Amino acid sequence: MRTRLAALGAAAALLLAACGNAGEENKNPIDNEVDKDAASKFEAGTPMADLAKAGKVKIGVKFDQPGLGFKRAGEDTPSGFDVEIGKILAAKLGISADNVQWVETISDNREPFLQKGTVDFVVASYSITDERREVVGQAGPYYVTGQQILVKKGSDIKSVDDVKGKQVCSVTGSTSLKQIEAKGAKGRGFETYSQCRDQVLDGAVEAMTTDGSILLGYAAENPDELEVVGEPFSEERYGVGYNKDEAELCDFIVDTLTEAEEDGTWAKAFKATLGKSGVKTPTPPEMDPCP
Ligand code: GLU
Repeated sequence: MRTRLAALGAAAALLLAACGNAGEENKNPIDNEVDKDAASKFEAGTPMADLAKAGKVKIGVKFDQPGLGFKRAGEDTPSGFDVEIGKILAAKLGISADNVQWVETISDNREPFLQKGTVDFVVASYSITDERREVVGQAGPYYVTGQQILVKKGSDIKSVDDVKGKQVCSVTGSTSLKQIEAKGAKGRGFETYSQCRDQVLDGAVEAMTTDGSILLGYAAENPDELEVVGEPFSEERYGVGYNKDEAELCDFIVDTLTEAEEDGTWAKAFKATLGKSGVKTPTPPEMDPCP
């Protein structure tokens, strides 16, 4: 764990150094080959057959996380690594990117959106946890990152060891808020990470915390004022969320993403998004077996 976290930290520093404007850098979606015969390949009655037959899918992604899921005002579609993962799944169902309905999810509504069918999949920096797996399905991990701290440049906070008693913001419904409170900080929960980032810029709170992959995008957008400090202090394993009642989706997601890892599509997606900023493409993580 230590070495892995140190490696994540190094990748983080590199991303920060190399990234000018993450939102712009990430506008290079890959073109997935859409499986035109998909509808006939899935057993009738399965959720995959239903989606393939419908020819459209609703995927929940973040809209304000550069590099992962990001949509600028006025743009039609979001971009980022999570978005590319969503497109890989859609293509396997015979659905082109144009027929994906991208639905904005925030951390706190990911479980209800899956339970109510507001979305078919959630691909939104969604850490796999035992607690979440009680209520929704989570297949993966397809990416691993770790929690870090974002501060205004020159802050006294240099790492997680300095947060005791300090106001640190994050997002309600995230693993990050709970984990920083466990480190002794006074957690302040907001709806989105961009709101939390604005609090740091205003000086209303001393630091912000969440996954390194998210914080680096914000730091890269504002390198004169913001920086990521300290090593990662958790392991966040990103999974694809699905409705637990549609258990067949787990094997579909794992098989599709494993194939993408093996044939280079995963690496291509990474390079076109998070990797644009100079981070070396990591070895894809091994996925959990389905329940
Ligand atoms: N990956 C963490 C989580 O799923 C933090 C990032 C987020 O809120 O999306 O809670």
